Amino acid sequence: MTLEQRLSEVTARAAAAATRAGRTLDELTIIPVTKFHPASLVRELYELGIRDVAENRHQEAREKALELADLTDLRWNFVGQLQGKKARQVRSYARIIQSIDRASLIDSLSSDDTDTSIFLQVNLTDDPARGGAAADQLEELTEHALRAQGIRLEGLMAVAPLGVDPGAAFARVRQLSERIRRIAPTASSISAGMSADFESAIAEGATHLRIGTAITGNRPTGG
Ligand SMILES: *Cc1c(COP(=O)(O)O)cnc(C)c1O
Repeated sequence: MTLEQRLSEVTARAAAAATRAGRTLDELTIIPVTKFHPASLVRELYELGIRDVAENRHQEAREKALELADLTDLRWNFVGQLQGKKARQVRSYARIIQSIDRASLIDSLSSDDTDTSIFLQVNLTDDPARGGAAADQLEELTEHALRAQGIRLEGLMAVAPLGVDPGAAFARVRQLSERIRRIAPTASSISAGMSADFESAIAEGATHLRIGTAITGNRPTGG
């Protein structure tokens, strides 16, 4: 299958899942995750109409963003674990940072003259190495984000844990999203769902789908 065929197949499956959930495709943003793939693939996606892509490693993302600087309306989403000292560098090309899991990252990104869109990442496992804040820290982080200059809180991001029913995981994300919306009513986006589970994420209200291999094909160097 070509890239175009895989993208249209994923789009059709997302549309069908949306219909089953009483939703519509235009409520969904499909974000191809292009890690390990060359900038040329990102350009191909752009030519197919994609305007949001995601990367999880700073070095690699920065190189591709530089190479594709002519695509001025392409939005780079950063979805990887983020070191505090790299946060400002990531902001230099990424308009949206989805992996915010601590107050110090919000402080590093806060600015009087640049707006950064963020998602709070919640860790659905008990393993702190997985990235994301514990669920019981989300309200405090939401308040912190609302107080920070130049930070636009979009909503919540999560990765379903391996080996559990993704539907149950995404139902929990939806509940957590409702909780943070009581504090920040406009933070209504939910970034959840990857190649293996995006249909069940749509059923539980996901608005942003981060889809790698189902669109790009297998990654060249693993990962
Ligand atoms: C790689 C990655 C994805 C996409 O994974 P696939 O299984 O290839 O769809 C989604 N989210 C994050 C945070 C990732 O690192």
